[in-house]
Amino acid sequence: MVHSGTRRSQYGEVSEAIFLTQGFVYETAEDAEARFIKVGEDEFIYARYGNPTVRMFEDRMAELEGAEDAFACASGMAAVNAVLMACLKAGDRVVAAKALFGSCLYILEDILTRYGVDVVLVDSTDLDAWDAAVNENTTLVFFESVSNPTLKLTDINAVSVIAHKVGALVVVDNIFATQTFSQPISHGADVVLYSTTKHVDGQGRCLGGIVLGKREFIRGTLEPYLKHTGGALSPFNAWVMLKGLETMDLRVEAQAATALAIAKTLQGHDKLTETLFPGLPNSPDAALVARQMDGKGGTVVSLDLKGGQEAAFRFLNALQIIIISNNLGDAKSIITHPATTTHQRLSKEQRADLGITPGLVRLSIGLEDVRDLTRDILQALDGV
Ligand SMILES: *Cc1c(COP(=O)(O)O)cnc(C)c1O
Repeated sequence: MVHSGTRRSQYGEVSEAIFLTQGFVYETAEDAEARFIKVGEDEFIYARYGNPTVRMFEDRMAELEGAEDAFACASGMAAVNAVLMACLKAGDRVVAAKALFGSCLYILEDILTRYGVDVVLVDSTDLDAWDAAVNENTTLVFFESVSNPTLKLTDINAVSVIAHKVGALVVVDNIFATQTFSQPISHGADVVLYSTTKHVDGQGRCLGGIVLGKREFIRGTLEPYLKHTGGALSPFNAWVMLKGLETMDLRVEAQAATALAIAKTLQGHDKLTETLFPGLPNSPDAALVARQMDGKGGTVVSLDLKGGQEAAFRFLNALQIIIISNNLGDAKSIITHPATTTHQRLSKEQRADLGITPGLVRLSIGLEDVRDLTRDILQALDGV
């Protein structure tokens, strides 16, 4: 996270250089021709195809994930879109979790179906549902290892076994689990993707995304799509992400420890119907957390308030330190009311089906002192 992927210029700089350049110069016309025929290991022709700062970030992320290669994208959604569009064609079937980030659902339900892709959504915690939905036409399965905002885990090993029986590609959105606690490729996944906007930046500055997997997939299937359609990460943002990676483990470990402490304090609170945190010892996902997430519950805690939306809004408005916004993994603690913001697009029935109740709030734990956060939450609950 600190040294991997570094490419030093002739000046031997300590901090990674920002190659804020769109293009590259060739010595001769013959050199230009040769580079366009075959771009070499440490050569670049256009920043949409690749850039040295972006390449450092890709190499560092790949080494951290235990993946052969990676392609960085302009945002998490550019990464999701690229994987789906690069892999699927008319007549293919994709089986995905129904509890997905809203924009991912949009791509699946509203875009891919326009091109004749058969999209089937399942309860991703139900292995029988996967088994029933994955058939011979299935090219790809897609799910979040920890779902947003109800924080339920999907068994990566078990779903991978089901998908691989028919040769389907297993694509995992691992954002909520974080790279600090979980490496889906070691559990059977083929492709892993992140919105690096979240914990990798970790300080709310830049959008970014990345896709990790086998070299043949990244360079053979994904790169042709991305380099011609323009979802490339900016070199400046790649540099911010590189610097973010240097401290990501420290930040995420601290956030997860605070999240666990807060979840334990709030469990059974009389203003709450439920405290959702997979890292709680009595969580229904405890065994999966041990196996798949290094025993840690991540950095997000969701709370279901008695008294529905009115209580939730009163709680949000009474918080003094925790800010109302919709990022996560940030140094600042952030609270969101999914039903009226991130999941507003869904119907009431869909929200109910996903457990997104009117009283549910999603709290992304930051780097503030745990005592300050606890006091803030308790005083705000008092006023509900
Ligand atoms: C944020 C997020 C995305 C999209 O990432 P952007 O960088 O905002 O485009 C996708 N999936 C999950 C689970 C996310 O939290």
